Amino acid sequence: MTDCAGRAPGGRPDAGAGALGGDLGALGGGGGQGSGRLARGAAAPTRRWHAEYAWLPGQGVRSGVLIEAQGRVFSSVIADVAPGRCPAGTATLAGFTMPGLANAHSHAFHRALRGVAQVGQGTFWTWRELMFGVARHLNPDTYLALARAVYAEMALAGITCVGEFHYLHHAPDGSAYADPNAMGRALIEAAVTAGLRITLLDACYLSGGLTAGGAPEPLNRAQIRFSDRDGDGWAARMEALGSDEHGVLAPDARAGVAIHSVRAVPADQMHPMLAWSHAHGTPLHLHLSEQPAENQACLAAYGITPAQLLDRAGILGPRTTAVHATHLADTDIELLGASQSTVCLCPTTEADLADGIGPARELADAGCPLSLGSDSHAVIDILEEARRVELGERLRSGQRGNFRAGELAYAATVAGHACLGWPQAGELAPGALADLVTVSLDGPRLAGASRASLLESIIFAGAACDVRYVVAGGRDVVVDGRHLLVDDVPAALADAIRPLLTAG
Ligand SMILES: [Zn+2]
Repeated sequence: MTDCAGRAPGGRPDAGAGALGGDLGALGGGGGQGSGRLARGAAAPTRRWHAEYAWLPGQGVRSGVLIEAQGRVFSSVIADVAPGRCPAGTATLAGFTMPGLANAHSHAFHRALRGVAQVGQGTFWTWRELMFGVARHLNPDTYLALARAVYAEMALAGITCVGEFHYLHHAPDGSAYADPNAMGRALIEAAVTAGLRITLLDACYLSGGLTAGGAPEPLNRAQIRFSDRDGDGWAARMEALGSDEHGVLAPDARAGVAIHSVRAVPADQMHPMLAWSHAHGTPLHLHLSEQPAENQACLAAYGITPAQLLDRAGILGPRTTAVHATHLADTDIELLGASQSTVCLCPTTEADLADGIGPARELADAGCPLSLGSDSHAVIDILEEARRVELGERLRSGQRGNFRAGELAYAATVAGHACLGWPQAGELAPGALADLVTVSLDGPRLAGASRASLLESIIFAGAACDVRYVVAGGRDVVVDGRHLLVDDVPAALADAIRPLLTAG
């Protein structure tokens, strides 16, 4: 990054509101509306960037875009500004700038299985046994170290907001920690200290599955630590998390709720999650029809599909996000679309776990906003997730061009933030949270990209390694491909993962 005169900026005299680090003191204490309010009397610092190219809402890709932020919020975005007309101190962003990316579905600890899970053969269900093995060895301290490193990897990939689907709440023997939300608070601290906003989607997980006859299965030894015993136990722990009436925990952290799946939460225990979401106006996420076996078990237990069960329970709706939605009947697609539920696709995980390819185009046509997640973190690259939505459709349909690049970019930004409860983020527009990502066009993957199809080049050939500059909430997080808050991200990952894999 240089300023408009081509100089490297000296220091970061107005590097955002310093809000992320300064917010840590508010963790768990409720933090107002999350709008980044400054202390009374403090002036919001002004920052300016001049983007060579930028993707703007309703305008497509524009050149010479002067972007201004007051504190944590964009105050002005103007295209076709010559470099010589920028105010002094304006930083130059060489390459392609877009809004911060949203990773709408994450299980941070699954990152430890990258590569390890590729040895041998198996199914989703054999992979799950490996995942349980890692889960056994985490405590609040090791979880903080692992998640912070994983979130730092996300920041390097241009992700400014993560939805952490959290079910690892209790100690390995199933007992509560002294602070029953110690593991959740570790995740929040990890995200904030890695420079990301987080929605902690606290999941209820009560049963080990459904038998072929439809009865809830008991939890196995690894699953015991996921359980709150019943829905009321989950609700009591959520209250102890200490959010405000809107689910806000700190300016960069908010709570949401999750029903792990119809496999893990009996229908008669779902109401507390729905009630909490309604009372606080928070997102509600759930895994839906990831595997055919889930559908078969649900049909055996209830005589209806998972989507029908959720519809009957009043769970579907605009605040709800169904993750995967891979194996759906036509009536399921109609229910999801009519309710305007978001569907979060995680194509790299769905391929990695041999889940299948879901009906993405049909869901979008039915009315479902689509968002994206890296889920098990087989890779962390939202651009890869985005293009795989279209590439999966091509393999399924034999047709090219099912999703335009703009639709996929929208899923990675606007729709992703909205489904995590941050509708004020995801656009380069005045009033939006000041998140931006600049992708270099100088690397071998993108060199020679045509001006006329820049967004297509980014979505279909760009990668996490092309991200050079990331701002979250007006604050620099990544500069010249280097994370400013976590010194050595690969070392942090290696140090956190190695003990988990050797613990036996
Ligand atoms: Zn998941």
